[in-house]
Amino acid sequence: MQEDIYAAQRERLETKKAELSARLDRVTANLRRGNDPDSKERAKELEDSEVVDALGNEARVEISKITEALRRMDNDEYGICDECGASIDPGRLEAHPYARKCIDCARFDEHRRAHS
Ligand SMILES: [Zn+2]
Repeated sequence: MQEDIYAAQRERLETKKAELSARLDRVTANLRRGNDPDSKERAKELEDSEVVDALGNEARVEISKITEALRRMDNDEYGICDECGASIDPGRLEAHPYARKCIDCARFDEHRRAHS
């Protein structure tokens, strides 16, 4: 069992997820208000709602990454490189809590992308 080594990380991710969900709820509420068809400021509100929607999408993407990371923790997959199966450096996980690859594989990917 290795559940305890990521306990702090898990707690941080769960806190972050709760914050993002709360923000998403606010954003969604704003968006719904912005869609009032009777509004005189419709154009302005549409413009705002696009910004709000982008923020909402950002939050949604991050929430799904966190959910995925938490799932990996449950399955004892967290901190293991997808590519080569090596343990991901704890410092790297600290900086990139959703990392799915070790630094070597991530670098290799970047290199491959840059040259393809
Ligand atoms: Zn790797």
